[in-house]
Amino acid sequence: MTRRKMVVGNWKMHGLKADLPEIEAIAQAAAQKPMVDVALCVPATLIAPATGVAGTMPIGAEDVHAADKGAHTGCLSAQMVKEAGASLTIVGHSERRADQNETSHDAWAKAAAARAAGLNVILCVGETEAERDAGRAERVVQAQIEKSVPDAAAASWFTLAYEPRWAIGTGRTPKLEEIESMHAIARAKLSRMVGEEAAGIRILYGGSMTGANAASILAVDNVDGGLIGGASLTAEKFIPIIQAAA
Ligand code: PEP
Repeated sequence: MTRRKMVVGNWKMHGLKADLPEIEAIAQAAAQKPMVDVALCVPATLIAPATGVAGTMPIGAEDVHAADKGAHTGCLSAQMVKEAGASLTIVGHSERRADQNETSHDAWAKAAAARAAGLNVILCVGETEAERDAGRAERVVQAQIEKSVPDAAAASWFTLAYEPRWAIGTGRTPKLEEIESMHAIARAKLSRMVGEEAAGIRILYGGSMTGANAASILAVDNVDGGLIGGASLTAEKFIPIIQAAA
């Protein structure tokens, strides 16, 4: 099964309108590589302005609430970010799991809400360093997939991202064989959950991916692209990753 490579930036809590030229430059580079699906997830305040400069490059949100509406001060529903111009969203990012105590069940509910609103979904899973050191990484990731992959997840709208928490923003990455092994485990788990559809679902790697290591990571079996934080913040750093995926 051939899966198109996907490269997605996650700007986290970075970005003001002054940064729109970076988004425009990234989108222009992405348009030169039509064989790669490139998207950028930005703070909610930037979704609408970003769509104005992104051309055909999809702009995404970094999170959504699981409810359609309600008394949830400061939160945004999937319909809201969609109306602002998002066509996808990240859910279950480890920074939300850590900072907002989000569970795999929360990620599952958010993924379902996003899907119901017509958004594509990138669901993040990944172990902590302590879990890896204790030899529990595989069990933890499989349990997260079990509890958070939405029902009837399909390749047309659902993407999984394996992001070892200890690799995010640290400059450290797992060994290539560790990435290969976890992606194979994740795909096998997906197949037990959604059957043959799993063969088409893309599994991204995330955690300190840069222009320097992207080509080797993206060449690993079952790595269908990358979810990139720090190195997606400027065109200068992000474009080499897009090129490595092409
Ligand atoms: C992320 O936040 O999803 C991420 C992978 O960050 P970084 O690339 O900075 O490690």
